[in-house]
Amino acid sequence: MDRLQQITLEECDAAYGQWLSYGGQAPRYGGRLSRHVKDGNKGIERLKFDNSAVAMNLWNFLLTEEERLREARSAGKKLIGTMKDLGTLPVMVYAHPGLVAFYPDGAWWIPCLMDENDRLLEVADQLGVDGTFCPVRAMLAAFVTGDHFPAPDMLICSVGATCDDFSAIAQRVEGLGNPILWWELPHRRALGHDETGIELPGGACAAKDQIDFVKDEMTRIIRVMADTVGASVTDDMIVHGISEANKVRACLAELRLTIFTADIAPLPALELLVAEMMAIHFCSDRDEVLVVLSGLLELVQQRVAAGVGYLGPDSVRVFWINPVADLRVMNMLEECGGRICGTEYLFTHALDQIPTHIPPREALARMALADPMAGAAQDRARRICADIKRFGSEAVIISRIPGASHCALEGVVIKETIRSIFDIPVVEIEVPPVSDTFQASLRTRLSALIEIAKGQRKRK
Ligand code: SF4
Repeated sequence: MDRLQQITLEECDAAYGQWLSYGGQAPRYGGRLSRHVKDGNKGIERLKFDNSAVAMNLWNFLLTEEERLREARSAGKKLIGTMKDLGTLPVMVYAHPGLVAFYPDGAWWIPCLMDENDRLLEVADQLGVDGTFCPVRAMLAAFVTGDHFPAPDMLICSVGATCDDFSAIAQRVEGLGNPILWWELPHRRALGHDETGIELPGGACAAKDQIDFVKDEMTRIIRVMADTVGASVTDDMIVHGISEANKVRACLAELRLTIFTADIAPLPALELLVAEMMAIHFCSDRDEVLVVLSGLLELVQQRVAAGVGYLGPDSVRVFWINPVADLRVMNMLEECGGRICGTEYLFTHALDQIPTHIPPREALARMALADPMAGAAQDRARRICADIKRFGSEAVIISRIPGASHCALEGVVIKETIRSIFDIPVVEIEVPPVSDTFQASLRTRLSALIEIAKGQRKRK
């Protein structure tokens, strides 16, 4: 068995140069990763990376999104800032060849990637949105400084079954002179006695009335988009858009399954998190994201076939819930002897296949309602438990998001549900955007979790 080692930024540069000298073909956004430090992404100096050229493509693709958005604008495309729904509206927006969608919400990670270099959190504080809000407050500051993404031609944001943090911050964004088209995503309630329910992708159920309501909201968004940016999205276009999105989702599904079920981890936790995030809006290039993810899948399949991976077969199989604002904590998992075998990063609905046997706007309505944040925490917990069983996870990390209004209670619900079914350790941690002062205690907690899981393994 061949053990892989994660490498530093400096080692990435050296490996990249070597790969080029062997005739490797870099994509147009390729290059040494260290160049992104000069662009301000100082935080990447503190990360450890997978040692492959395809993983470097993944990072380069992620870190060049702003350039892609500016190029799209120069090419005459309209930029649509979709906010909060995480995965559904971009399918509709990309259905039109003249439109590009992106999530301003992605500013969530800027303080970590830039190592707080441009003080976005301080700017948010000055705008009255302090640390009692979740890290998405960095998005508000990014709108004000204008340094991280081009001003969108149109902004669309979901309300209703969304967290208080996002609603309050998006209202502040609008108040600062950025008009928003609001659309309602209702809370996915339980069915009444005589109501018809429809099973959604991912297994939850929604009332038909609610699906019809969201479908009408989709129709309204299409109408306003046509009026605002002059692009009419037809049902035929959406059918094609769904088919393209499903290709990306199928690739990610295969990637996740291959990683979660491999004897030894073929890819580190950090790169898998980045890959999963691509499902939300294709990192602003729907065709290229498939190239990047297919390369990653091929690499992972080759490693599994060759028995190559990180750590050994005795590493603890960990299920991770919620994304971390400080990406270094994903590196910490392997350093403590754990590997990822199951994830739920708040956007599982962006990973599921979109139905193709029903009218396209209804299919998107079902996807929107399948959002884990649109329903009860018990629904989320049920899906997590099904995946823990499926992937044989031996321990669970619930990563709380500081200030996030939903995190105080849902962690308890999810933890209790897991404990009522499985005899495996569960730990709740909290990870701020820059976690320097918490690193020692986080490491202690993760190490303890791994040790407990190993102890339980021996007793079984
Ligand atoms: S509170 Fe949670 S769901 Fe809301 S924006 Fe923050 S991380 Fe996202």
